[in-house]
Amino acid sequence: MHRTHCLILDDDPFSLALLSHQLDGCCLGFRKPCCFGKTCCFREICTSGPEALIRLEARASDTQLLFLDLNMPDMDGIEFIRRLSIIPYTGALVLVSGMDRRFLEVTERLARAHGLNVLGHLRKPVQPEALRGLLADWHVQGVHAKRAPDKVYDPDEVRCAIAAGELENHYQPVVDLTTGLLQGVETLVRWRHPEDGLVFPNQFIGVAEAHGLIDELTRGVLRAALEQTRRWRDGGLALRVAVNISMDNLARLDFADFVLREVVRADLTARDLILEVTESRLMLDIRTSLDILARLRLKGISLAIDDFGTGHSSLAQLCAIPFDELKIDRSFVHGAHRNPTKRVMVNASISVAQQLNMKTTGEGVEDYADWNLLRRQGCNLAQGYFIARPMPAEELPGWLADWNRQRLELRQA
Ligand code: C2E
Ligand code: MG
Ligand code: MG
Repeated sequence: MHRTHCLILDDDPFSLALLSHQLDGCCLGFRKPCCFGKTCCFREICTSGPEALIRLEARASDTQLLFLDLNMPDMDGIEFIRRLSIIPYTGALVLVSGMDRRFLEVTERLARAHGLNVLGHLRKPVQPEALRGLLADWHVQGVHAKRAPDKVYDPDEVRCAIAAGELENHYQPVVDLTTGLLQGVETLVRWRHPEDGLVFPNQFIGVAEAHGLIDELTRGVLRAALEQTRRWRDGGLALRVAVNISMDNLARLDFADFVLREVVRADLTARDLILEVTESRLMLDIRTSLDILARLRLKGISLAIDDFGTGHSSLAQLCAIPFDELKIDRSFVHGAHRNPTKRVMVNASISVAQQLNMKTTGEGVEDYADWNLLRRQGCNLAQGYFIARPMPAEELPGWLADWNRQRLELRQA
């Protein structure tokens, strides 16, 4: 049986007792020590930041869940977070405070920026449902999941991988929120590494961008995605395909010609393709980028602003580029039903898009609550684990058969 260690840090004895009591009463059955499922939990309490740091440092790897009160007299929560990140502490962190929600969200971001694994926050007085929700999320994350730091690949390895054909496309379905019908797929590149297995794009796209390899990478991804879309069409499945492009792809004027040529080569039309753009790097030459994007739009290819609402994908970019689709970033979508600030962001994004005659897609739809909220707010399309994870092309028909059964139930819900 596994033993889970929790630590509650709060200078106020009443708050400590209350949270301990709530953990006792929580449906997951925390006790001191307690058992839930196959996991046994041991809970400790502490009233001072420096003392907690000493305990955590002594056995940093033991504590898996830390409840941190932000308002403490000797060392406040912000200073504690900074010190905690140096230990380093690898368990999950829950922030607890009577401060307003916006403040708690900013502090969550700060803790994440320090590299801490933040599970969420609880406002005092802590509501049992909120506590239960967080603990459920923690279990979904995997109680004992400690992510190994992502390996960084060097440019030569990425160059060889492209040349050796080790990159492969996975596809994630995008469905209509009203009917549940499959509308298209987003292409997400993966690297089938001979030793490391499946490597995700955050581990090599940045390297490709920084070392002049992104053009070759995107061209390969785009060509394969269009060829696959043709194969699906030949098999009776008509889909639109989205491909992510980097700002660095917009530095050479011949990019637009390349895209248009590939669409024709695959015997598709411009409206079958969507290019997704984020401003992950500064536009190097705004005239060339705009020239390319305007020409592509003129020829009928859709342009989607990806990760809308994040630092890289802003209102200014929306104004500057002739986008016709808007993808709301998953950080706003997932959990919006229980977070008023996220809900405002989702609502504002949909409203901006509607006023500009743009279609909206909600990314990161992970559960029915996310789905339902987007549907009620008038979002057009949805994408996320609730519908499907990105998958190899050959798995799509099997997934679709299952989904078509489920979507009828969703429509009736
Ligand atoms: P993106 O374009 O915003 O793609 C969505 C990312 O969110 C994907 O991560 C996808 O697997 C993940 N995702 C989808 N649904 C959910 C969900 O419900 N919950 C959560 N937590 N995540 C979800 P992935 O595949 O790791 O890709 C990360 C980013 O890498 C992409 O973000 C995109 O910006 C970039 N990328 C992927 N393929 C390419 C490519 O061919 N070229 C370029 N330039 N960038 C690419
Ligand atoms: Mg995308
Ligand atoms: Mg996105």
